[in-house]
Amino acid sequence: MGIRENLQQVREKVRLAAARAGRDLQQIKIIAVTKRVEVSRMREVVQQSIVDLGENRVQELIDKINALPADINWHMIGHLQTNKVKYIVGRVNLIHSLDSWSLAEEIHRRAVNLEVTTRVLVQVNTSGEKTKYGISPEELADFLAALRDLPQISVQGLMTIAPYAQNPEEVRPYFRELRLLATAHNLEHLSMGMTNDFEVAVEEGADMLRLGTAIFGSRAN
Ligand SMILES: *Cc1c(COP(=O)(O)O)cnc(C)c1O
Repeated sequence: MGIRENLQQVREKVRLAAARAGRDLQQIKIIAVTKRVEVSRMREVVQQSIVDLGENRVQELIDKINALPADINWHMIGHLQTNKVKYIVGRVNLIHSLDSWSLAEEIHRRAVNLEVTTRVLVQVNTSGEKTKYGISPEELADFLAALRDLPQISVQGLMTIAPYAQNPEEVRPYFRELRLLATAHNLEHLSMGMTNDFEVAVEEGADMLRLGTAIFGSRAN
């Protein structure tokens, strides 16, 4: 199936999940995850009215920002090393993966230099898996409090990556936890839900879905 048909199916599934949860479809944004997808295929999704694109590696992100039209909203969704921060501050719409204090300090330092405010989501390790990045739910309150001392970082919400599960119902508790944490801290946005689990994420309140495979098919490795 082509990108257009894939996207139609995704949008229909999002619509149904939103209806099940009594949610407004307008509040739910699809971010097309374009890692390892060539620019020509990215243009196809842009033609289908997708305006948000996500990448998980800095070099690929920068190359693609330079290759595509200027009116795209770029999302950095992958783990970010401090030494790469300088390449993306001021160039992306949202960093989804703020996962350490040293990273926050470096983002802030670069934002101050450029006289910009950088929008971020705090990545939370809701599943507690050791292989996953993110602030633990227990540490989140202190982390958010400390971020208030970095005024040129604007915390827009939370992000999580659920473990892979055969049955997406198994990850519902992680999405629910992220929503409760966001509510407790008065944060608006929730980036959660990937190809395997986005319908559950919508039911649990996600407003940013990060979808790669569902749109582009499986990635070559
Ligand atoms: C690759 C990736 C996605 C998209 O994964 P799919 O399963 O292909 O939809 C979402 N979020 C992050 C952080 C990713 O690295």
